[in-house]
Amino acid sequence: MNTHATRREAVLATLARRGADAILVTHLPSIRYLTGFVGSNGVVALSPEGTVLVTDSRYTVAAKAAVDDATDVRIEGVEALPAIAETLAGITPDGGTVALEAAHITLHRAEELRRELTSRGRTTTGETGIVEDVRVVKDDAEKALLRESARINDAALARVLGTGLAGRRERDVAWDILAALREEGAEGPSFDCIVAAGPNGARPHAVPSGAVIPDDTLVVIDMGAVHGGYCSDMTRTVPVGDPPVELREIYDVCLRAQRAAVAAVRPGIACAELDAVARDIIAGAGYGDRFGHGLGHGVGIEIHEAPRLGRNATGTLTSGMAITIEPGIYLEGLGGVRIEDLVLVTDDGAEVLSHAPIASHDD
Ligand code: ZN
Ligand code: ZN
Repeated sequence: MNTHATRREAVLATLARRGADAILVTHLPSIRYLTGFVGSNGVVALSPEGTVLVTDSRYTVAAKAAVDDATDVRIEGVEALPAIAETLAGITPDGGTVALEAAHITLHRAEELRRELTSRGRTTTGETGIVEDVRVVKDDAEKALLRESARINDAALARVLGTGLAGRRERDVAWDILAALREEGAEGPSFDCIVAAGPNGARPHAVPSGAVIPDDTLVVIDMGAVHGGYCSDMTRTVPVGDPPVELREIYDVCLRAQRAAVAAVRPGIACAELDAVARDIIAGAGYGDRFGHGLGHGVGIEIHEAPRLGRNATGTLTSGMAITIEPGIYLEGLGGVRIEDLVLVTDDGAEVLSHAPIASHDD
């Protein structure tokens, strides 16, 4: 069985456990995952009776080239709800249930589809996580793409740091990062990179500004590549010159928390427990209320996907998950620090995919 067919089998098993007969996949990253199709419009109707990709005429050639022999392609107008309902009815038994991806369909489309399917003797149910629960564990092909995506990201950062940061505008460094990612082989960035110097570093999702990077601060650089459709994600906080003592202090605390959390990654640990490994160190140093976000997130076709690692996260790590470990400490008006690695959960621990050097006082 080919890779996409194997993934579809896994989704069908999840679907059966939920008591549904078919699923309409409307989330484009999941459509790519299940069929190989990449486009801005499309849905996949999937049941044990068949797989049908419905997309519009812009993708006639691309869709047929992307999918395997077991996937039919149906070309329809962009808003082809009756045709989609007809396709679903064709692969669902009379009186059967079609699962809709509740997190990835508008209320309007769901209601229209419900009407169309009801008139054809099928019921609909809103479900979440059916494809995501399969995507969360990466297969060997995905692991290889993630490793290469992380390698490109490491190399791009090395290129940019080689030219120095002090005296340059944040947005010019961000532009260089974009170019370096391409030069190292990325299809593009996995998100708009963050270059945040001094006080800007206190904003976890800062937008690179026209501010000139001074020669005595910390610079938070958060960046990622896309390779083969797979994202990487890494943050390094780079000391420039002689940063003030408060920033050096939070840097050391954050680094300790990050290293402890990476060391604690293993199958079976609860996502909330892993978050607590880092959070307890940061809180113990008196900065608990300066670490507002979660410890990390899953990475794959999407830059943010399951699992979530946070205080209130449910769920447990499994071998094959790709996650980030990225504690941060942010002091308003002064600066911030975040250190992020992309990590694969292995059978007995972690494989760290980010290899860019991390500054430490032991160096
Ligand atoms: Zn990041
Ligand atoms: Zn991240």
